[in-house]
Amino acid sequence: MYNPKSLKAEEFINHEEILESLEWAEQHKNDAALIDQLLEKARPKRTADGIHCEGLTHREAAVLLLCDIPEKNEEIYRLAEEIKLAFYGNRIVMFAPLYLSNYCVNGCVYCPYHMKNKHIARKKLTQAEVAAEVTALQDMGHKRLAIEAGEDPVNNPIEYILECIDTIYSIKHKNGAIRRVNVNIAATTVENYRKLKDAGIGTYILFQETYHKESYEKLHPTGPKHDYAYHTEAMDRAMEGGIDDVGLGVLFGLELYKYEFVGLLMHAEHLEAVHGVGPHTISVPRVKKADDIDPDVFDNGISDDLFVKLIACIRIAVPYTGMIISTRESQEVREKALQVGISQISGASRTSVGGYTEEERPHDSEQFDVSDQRTLDEVVHWLMDMGFIPSFCTACYREGRTGDRFMALCKNGQIQNCCHPNALMTLCEYLEDYASPETKEIGYRLIEKELGNIPKEKVRAIASQNISDIKASNRRDFRF
Ligand code: SAM
Repeated sequence: MYNPKSLKAEEFINHEEILESLEWAEQHKNDAALIDQLLEKARPKRTADGIHCEGLTHREAAVLLLCDIPEKNEEIYRLAEEIKLAFYGNRIVMFAPLYLSNYCVNGCVYCPYHMKNKHIARKKLTQAEVAAEVTALQDMGHKRLAIEAGEDPVNNPIEYILECIDTIYSIKHKNGAIRRVNVNIAATTVENYRKLKDAGIGTYILFQETYHKESYEKLHPTGPKHDYAYHTEAMDRAMEGGIDDVGLGVLFGLELYKYEFVGLLMHAEHLEAVHGVGPHTISVPRVKKADDIDPDVFDNGISDDLFVKLIACIRIAVPYTGMIISTRESQEVREKALQVGISQISGASRTSVGGYTEEERPHDSEQFDVSDQRTLDEVVHWLMDMGFIPSFCTACYREGRTGDRFMALCKNGQIQNCCHPNALMTLCEYLEDYASPETKEIGYRLIEKELGNIPKEKVRAIASQNISDIKASNRRDFRF
């Protein structure tokens, strides 16, 4: 039976409830009056203490997803954009993945790291190699990483992951520093989540891959990841272990997108119902070509247009959740996705173990092929050309604004007052330390405009002064 408050996977992600919701949505998908009501319900409302958004339930959001009235779909995209602007403004948070090890004991059929793949090069970074990778990432200007590893209790035990996190935070190269390490490793125990929390991680990210239990078991035929309940209940254990920012995701292409969409929103409702705080982020990866992997063998691939619609509908349903898109997607798709809901993107990613220290993008230990292969400077330049402010800020996490404290600020729109100045400051810092002359030029023009036409020389002077004052004050952590 469906019960969002239950701690049992099959009760909070309930198969019958998903099917019934989809049937109900199918029946109502072209009911214009209902769609108007839903759009009105989801619209941001201004009240005395800020802007609020109600979001939509999984059933309601499914109606929008399935709707095929062209004018209503246009309204859906406009509303998604409006919600995004209300809570995230024009800021886009930047990050990069860092692959630590591709040793893995699982049998995931879509992933080249699966145990039976004997021809992929297996690598695990030493601490000296972690330091070299981090130095290369800092030299690009990155401040926020997502660490990635296969599941292998012998090669990649939790102690190894913790040691890598320590190394990452300890590297201070030139003006660089990694200020937030998010972690994407396999489902683990409460005790291990507590250790990750104590190591100072940001978000714990775990993709569900698919919410469809039967498919999940077929797609994960062997290894610890085969256990659907253990995987699906991981976020509850992470929260029990004290991690209050968790990131959900589905690997689109494996199962029917509609099913995944409803499952994902039910998972978000469950976290809110049990822990009082929904997911911090939702990622939307799609299956990609990789060594030993042909994405066409999975029959549930979705078109770019449908993919963008999914993002818009997630944005409307869970307005306070950040949304992440990776370099799995092309520049063109990322551009559309940014308009309708994405708030965080990776740049200059290498998905191989040890890839950042190589001149050319290596393929031998790569997890998937990246579509967007631009440098970070090119990505930053491109974002600013479109009027977005690339943000390297990590202040919320560093100031303890995580979990419900972050959500409380986000839910009344006040987060803008923290995020916007910090985004501008960290962008100035990036422009000063890492940008090419052209990127610097367009960056300061954008900041000048953002600050109400304060001349750019003055902005630069103020920013440089502030940044060097903060650095000179020798606080361990900058406040952005
Ligand atoms: N081993 C951890 C786990 O099991 O959750 C970490 C995951 S892995 C390093 C990161 C994610 O990459 C996976 O959760 C999966 O969704 C995604 N992935 C795997 N193979 C992929 C492929 N061929 N194309 C795109 N994404 C893929």
